[in-house]
Amino acid sequence: MRVLIVEDDFIGSRLMKKFLEADCFCHLAFDGREAIEAFEAALKEEKPYDLLFLDIMMPEVNGIDVLKTVRRMEAERGIGPDKGVKVIMTTAMNDADVIMESFNARCDGYIVKPVRREKLFEEIENLGFITKGG
Ligand SMILES: [Mg+2]
Repeated sequence: MRVLIVEDDFIGSRLMKKFLEADCFCHLAFDGREAIEAFEAALKEEKPYDLLFLDIMMPEVNGIDVLKTVRRMEAERGIGPDKGVKVIMTTAMNDADVIMESFNARCDGYIVKPVRREKLFEEIENLGFITKGG
């Protein structure tokens, strides 16, 4: 499983990678621009990510805008809604409006930070991925 972790907090990012690396091939992006570049590069190489963790609060391009861009790029390539990358938003605030906006932009789940291992694997398995890390 190919995973892109988008998180501007270095410690949070390292922690998620540590949880996931036994199960997943992980790439890291530290801001929204890097995330969009990495996602697009993976599509062009025909090695798309299976799963995206997307921090909402990031400078410049926030997670919701990254999500909208990702869904637009998929649509432009004829990748249907059921075939697209699974996206789990990560957010420090349990903010109903932000979470609603994320679902409207077609995220697949969300985790309120700090990210715990059990919750991480619960969300991944909810999306139908098989892991050995839970
Ligand atoms: Mg952040």
